[in-house]
Amino acid sequence: MPDPTAARAAGPNRDPGCLFCRIAAGELPATKVHDDEVVIGIRDIAPRAPTHVLFMPRTHIRSVAELTEADGPLLGRLFAAAAEFARSEGIATHGYRLVLNVGTWGGQTVDHLHVHLLGGRSMAWPPG
Ligand code: 5GP
Ligand code: ZN
Repeated sequence: MPDPTAARAAGPNRDPGCLFCRIAAGELPATKVHDDEVVIGIRDIAPRAPTHVLFMPRTHIRSVAELTEADGPLLGRLFAAAAEFARSEGIATHGYRLVLNVGTWGGQTVDHLHVHLLGGRSMAWPPG
């Protein structure tokens, strides 16, 4: 099995069958709110809050379970992009929620690492 860290160091890595890789490559449409060489942000197709955006690396990483310490800079980019977007969307003052679902019991349905940014309303705790 290839070492995922080595693959990431070698450059963008994609899975041609992955929905979010295809969106990142522009092969499938999405409403983009952020787009740089490392991270994209798209509006969720089935929003669960007034603002519901998904931030993801361009490179194919299946989930948090695949991350290593070497991914620190990439995660910094991912979270900074989310925080910057929240400010620009006008939801940062009241606060918002960032969610990372991992695996089946975590509720993950798309196996490409993504952070949900949910805002524009008050959130309950704990989640279901
Ligand atoms: P997960 O369940 O893996 O944590 O989150 C996947 C998210 O992707 C869900 O909130 C779902 O609504 C969203 N999603 C699924 N398919 C598409 C799509 O084709 N486009 C967009 N923009 N979002 C999608
Ligand atoms: Zn992917």
